[in-house]
Amino acid sequence: MTHKIWVFAEQVNGVLDRVALELLTKAKDLADKLEGNTEIAAVLLGKNVKGLCDTLADYGAEVIYVGDSAELDLYNPMLYAPVITNLVKDEDPDIFLFGATAIGSELGPTVAAQLKTGVAAHCVELRINENGLLVASVPSFGGKILGEILVPDNRPQMASVKPGIFVQGEKETREPSIHWLDVTDLKAEGLPLKALRIDKKEPKGVPLEKAEIVFCGGYGIGSKENWAKLETLAARVGGAAACTRPVMDEGWSPGEHVMVGTSGKSIRPKVYIGFGISGATHHICGMKDSGLVINVNRDEHCPVFEVSDIGIVEDLNKVLDQLLMTIQ
Ligand SMILES: Cc1cc2nc3c(=O)[nH]c(=O)nc-3n(C[C@H](O)[C@H](O)[C@H](O)COP(=O)(O)OP(=O)(O)OC[C@H]3O[C@@H](n4cnc5c(N)ncnc54)[C@H](O)[C@@H]3O)c2cc1C
Repeated sequence: MTHKIWVFAEQVNGVLDRVALELLTKAKDLADKLEGNTEIAAVLLGKNVKGLCDTLADYGAEVIYVGDSAELDLYNPMLYAPVITNLVKDEDPDIFLFGATAIGSELGPTVAAQLKTGVAAHCVELRINENGLLVASVPSFGGKILGEILVPDNRPQMASVKPGIFVQGEKETREPSIHWLDVTDLKAEGLPLKALRIDKKEPKGVPLEKAEIVFCGGYGIGSKENWAKLETLAARVGGAAACTRPVMDEGWSPGEHVMVGTSGKSIRPKVYIGFGISGATHHICGMKDSGLVINVNRDEHCPVFEVSDIGIVEDLNKVLDQLLMTIQ
């Protein structure tokens, strides 16, 4: 019997999301743990997307299901979901992985609901257990524990993972088997939901994922003024400012694009300096692979110090002001 692991190959404007390649790399790892043969496939929808197949193959896709149509140019769940659901019904994959991106976070659960199967969202680890089942780890109870989610009875076992949680592997040239889906009857016209265009807003400064030094503010920063200080520090050293979820919820930071964690971004800067962060799993999952980790917290027993190379027990206001004076 051949197992099948599928990855949704998300693309926008003909550019693959890196999470597709990270998930294909992870799929190879999962395939090694399954007994018998395993086929890894990518599902690619869009307009004129054939050029992306070589890249998907290079990162592990042996089979690529391609739905190519002008109607699939812009993502629309009312078109994408039925195409994928019907394909799953025909091919019966064991595991289906999505990026926990804006698109994947909607499309994955929509497909899962149509198939009446389970999807574990925002996973931080995936493994195969002794019974050959997918075990998806998700931070639970406010991030205090890692819950393990299994889908024992229904198929496919589905999971979504944020970009950056897994690492993209080495390229390995291979010739994929391409299966063209019949999407000639797809029509966006008449659907209640219509995708008109993509408006992209470029963030200011160094993108968080590319910054070598990150100044991260937690709830302890307490104000927009302190957030501005983090941005100033970041600008002075060519780094980036980031935040935990409560900082975004309070409106102190500009939005989700600077949030780090399971529902935010995963980062690996050379230096991460946290201010007023308690160290909840939801946040730590997004920065645990950073190089040097420094944290400032006034509570000497704070759990964040367990994941820090250097811990500074101090009022963060003092440290911030001293840093601003030093780094002119
Ligand atoms: C489904 C779900 C998804 C989530 N996803 C994310 C995510 O992606 N990213 C994320 O960050 N969170 C996420 N969370 C929230 C997460 O569980 C924690 O609640 C959050 O990370 C805590 O943020 P914090 O450390 O900034 O705040 P707190 O836990 O409130 O910690 C504040 C810290 O600041 C310290 N402090 C206060 N004042 C000072 C001072 N003057 N000087 C020095 N130290 C001070 C305190 O001692 C404390 O340790 C999620 C939660 C759920 C339920």
